[in-house]
This record gives sequence, C-alpha cells and structure tokens, in this order.
Amino acid sequence: MNIIVAKDAGYCFGVRDAVKMAYEAADAYGEVYMLGHIVHNERVVGDLEKAGAKVVDSLDEVPVNKPILFRAHGTSPDLWNAATEKKLNVVDATCPLVTEIHEEFRKMEAEKRQLIIIGDHGHDEVIGIASQVADPIVISSVAEARKLGRMKKAGVVSQSTQMIENVQSIVNELMTRVFDLKFVNTICYPTRRNHQQIKQLAENCDLMIVIGSFTSANSKRLTQLALERNPYSYQVSEASELKTEWFSDSVKTVGISAGASTPDEIIQTVIDRVQEIGQITEKETVYE
Ligand code: SF4
Repeated sequence: MNIIVAKDAGYCFGVRDAVKMAYEAADAYGEVYMLGHIVHNERVVGDLEKAGAKVVDSLDEVPVNKPILFRAHGTSPDLWNAATEKKLNVVDATCPLVTEIHEEFRKMEAEKRQLIIIGDHGHDEVIGIASQVADPIVISSVAEARKLGRMKKAGVVSQSTQMIENVQSIVNELMTRVFDLKFVNTICYPTRRNHQQIKQLAENCDLMIVIGSFTSANSKRLTQLALERNPYSYQVSEASELKTEWFSDSVKTVGISAGASTPDEIIQTVIDRVQEIGQITEKETVYE
C-alpha cells in the first residue's frame, strides 16, 4: 500500500497568513479580537483561544487598547468605517484574492450592471462581497438562476471556493436570460488546484481520504468531489475517525487531501495513522 498526498492539501495561503497574524497579534497584545471564527476548524479555534484570541459579536466589545483582526474572507466597508471611527487597532488579514473580487464587483457596479454573486447564502465571504455594492443578488444553484427574470446588463463574480462545475452551469443559465453578461471567474487559484488534485487522486486511488471539519462547507464540497469519482471516499476531521475496515487488501493506493481550514498537524497525524493501519514503511509521495 502506498500513500499519495495532494500538494495543496490544507491551509490556503490566505488562511495560513490570517492564522499567523492572529498568533502574532495575540502574542504582542496579550489578546486579539475577531468577529467570528478565523476558520471552520474546532482545533484551530481552540488553540487560538488558548493563545488569547477572542470571538465577539460587535466592535463595542473590543477594548480600545486591543487589536481587532479582520478575517481572510473580507469585511464590509461599514465595519471598516466603524472601526476607524472608534480608532481601533485593525489587523487586516483580508486575503488579497478576496480584495480582488471586491474590486471587480465594484467595477461592474460602475458599469451599471445588475450585480450577481454565485455563492453560499449567509457565508461570511459572500456577505463581504455583497456589502461592496448596492442591491446584489446571491444565487447558489441553477434552480435559483432560473427564477431570475430577463436582464439587459449583468455582472457576475463567484465566491472564491465555489466548484467550477456549479459556476459553469449557473453562468450557462444566466447566458439565456442576460443580453450583456460579464462574468469574472473569481474562484481563487488555491481552490482550483485543490479541487483538481482531489478529482485526479480520487480517480486514480483505491481509497480517498478527505480531512476537514464537518462544520466546513468547503471540506464537505471536497468530499463530494471525491465521492462523485470514487465511492471509497471518506471524510474525517481527525486521525481517530479512520476506520481499519476501509483499508481492505484490495486497497493498494490511498489518496489524501484536506480542506483549506485543516492545519498541517492534523494532516500529518492522519498520514501517520494511515501508515500504521496499512503497515507502510515508505514515506508518502506528493501529488502536484
Ligand atoms: S480560499 Fe482563496 S480567496 Fe479564500 S482565503 Fe484562501 S486563498 Fe484567499
């Protein structure tokens, strides 16, 4: 049995930088405040809490002498203005690729287009993109796109972690109802690479393990991608959830990947446990 690990498994650079900035701010100021969790991963959140990161519901709860960290997936202009008025010390961890989405969307607004975001309703990144402009529409599926009326001019961006297939089918539907349609593909390149590697590994391996929190929409999406290609695909949030019965004698190759909110330590413990179950002595190979 051998193990192949996807090169882009785990933290994307946006999340990696945000987590690092949170630790640095907590270290420098004793505490750092955030409006919501930095990633959808219980272990990361718990470790950060121990280091001094505190989650609050509003800026009013942030002490004046402590920093507030604005997370990787973007913050509304209203919150930025409120933080500036309160003279809070803002640690800006917004991913530059999310900032690009905001810029593209504002350009589309200047072109007087009907603004459409393809993304998950209620997701923080989608809320952040929507807050950049007036009256955007959020759609998550082809069924929702079908409910839209005809439009003269529309501009479309997508949440950075969307699946390309979902975005393509929604854009196809929109093409039938919009005369002048501008679409900018804002699925970020770490997401595209991660999705591509999972698809290929699931197709080529006998067993596929996707590591990620069950509270993360992104990790569930990755598991779905794997399952569509390989019925022997399983999601685990940590090594203890691996089941020995998955590793039958017919399993010669195990593929491993992880969602963008899964830290390196958890990935490593899963690899170690798979090596133990499969009695593998060789080092895992990396799939690019
Ligand atoms: S998923 Fe993409 S856009 Fe979002 S934080 Fe990571 S790199 Fe940035």
